[in-house]
Amino acid sequence: MTTKITQQSKTVELAKLDKKHLLHPATNPKALIDNGPPIIFAKGKGVIVTSTDDVEYIDGMSMLWNVNLGHGNQELADAGNSQLSTLAYASSFKGFSNEPSILLAEKLAELAPGDLNSVFYTSGGSESNDTAIKLARFYWELKGKSEKRKIIALTNAYHGVTIGAQTATGLAAFHKFASSNIDGVVRAKAHLLNSELGDKSDPNYADSIRGTIEREGAETIAGIIIEPVQGAGGVNIPPEGYLEAVRKICDEHNILFMADEVICGFGRTGKMFGVNNWNVVPDMMSIAKGITSGYSQLGGVMMNDEIRETIANFDAVIPHGFTYSGHPTACAIGLKNIEILERDNIIDHVNEMEKELKKGLDYLAEKHSIVTNCRVIGLLAAFELYEEPTSGKLFDPTVFPANAVVDACFNRQLIVRALGAHNQIVAIAPPLIINKEEIEKMIQIIDDSITAFKNTRE
Ligand code: PLP
Repeated sequence: MTTKITQQSKTVELAKLDKKHLLHPATNPKALIDNGPPIIFAKGKGVIVTSTDDVEYIDGMSMLWNVNLGHGNQELADAGNSQLSTLAYASSFKGFSNEPSILLAEKLAELAPGDLNSVFYTSGGSESNDTAIKLARFYWELKGKSEKRKIIALTNAYHGVTIGAQTATGLAAFHKFASSNIDGVVRAKAHLLNSELGDKSDPNYADSIRGTIEREGAETIAGIIIEPVQGAGGVNIPPEGYLEAVRKICDEHNILFMADEVICGFGRTGKMFGVNNWNVVPDMMSIAKGITSGYSQLGGVMMNDEIRETIANFDAVIPHGFTYSGHPTACAIGLKNIEILERDNIIDHVNEMEKELKKGLDYLAEKHSIVTNCRVIGLLAAFELYEEPTSGKLFDPTVFPANAVVDACFNRQLIVRALGAHNQIVAIAPPLIINKEEIEKMIQIIDDSITAFKNTRE
């Protein structure tokens, strides 16, 4: 009892300090000042995170789609500790190097599709995408085609928030924020399979990648940046044949295929990389998040041999790099993370658990008439909430149905996430080590939460 009181007063104190001194990312600052942080995390083990009040939550989102091996993994902690006490940090500038960054680069080359055999390290996804945009433009400059500098990015894409990545992000709110956008990013509509296959009678043809290239001119376009499965834009799985069609367009027009694997990479979709679900090899690949399961900040851009060799012939200093590029501790954790993924056959487990998650979402759709458009690939999933799914009638914009269900889940100690332009999507992306019972528990909580939401509407 005494402990409980101490814990609670600690939470109150921390919340007070948080409200005073922190400006949180992706948070309504006024609401935070009014209400304080909804939770202060204290520890985690497996799929469970525990608050400073000793309340346990199922982490149904792997936090930000990144804690793939789950919380409290001792082997990852030991790998970090051991590197921290050997060589915590070393510069990679001026060709300085370190063992973990070299060995991880070799391992990544082994895992990556095709001949994506080289990596430029960053500290996260946004930096990776900014780097990918710069390297794509630089590559074409070196090829004597400096006019090829535009980047095609898709509607509903999420590529991060640094200025280049934010411009590529296809969610409107990001573009309005502080008027910070780069030039040369053009938007195409996502997932228009028929148009991409060349069907000009498609009413959306002009907005497709094909239509956009025709309008802008292939000679002005450096690359197309694309998430194999869109994450924050709504867990949108492309139609079969779509990524292959985009690959073909890139080949036809000498345009780089830049895959953003920041969420999809390292097993999330039931394959090592998202593109492995389809018959596609990108030219560049942005990686982050799952590379360390969030145990350290690490990202990178992988590139094929042609890009690498072209850049390798440049005989001057490349004026790009981050203090934490090639961070030895982050790379040591990345290496251990991949070792565990492979040793424990985590990806096979993801494919088994995918079936359980599918079963659970089917059950929810059958039981609740407002649940529709369930989709699952690996352990990346979503469902949608419509007032009348058959007629496509959304809830009134004042209802915020996904927020309501996500909040109800949170009150029942499950963390999932609301997405969608109409706040109609609930996303689920638990740690890849989740088991059948834990998935059933998650589904039970979501079931109860949807019922609670429906009850508030009666
Ligand atoms: N790309 C994708 C697909 C993402 O989902 C994210 C983050 O959620 C990013 C890039 C940005 O990564 P970071 O937040 O590490 O900068």
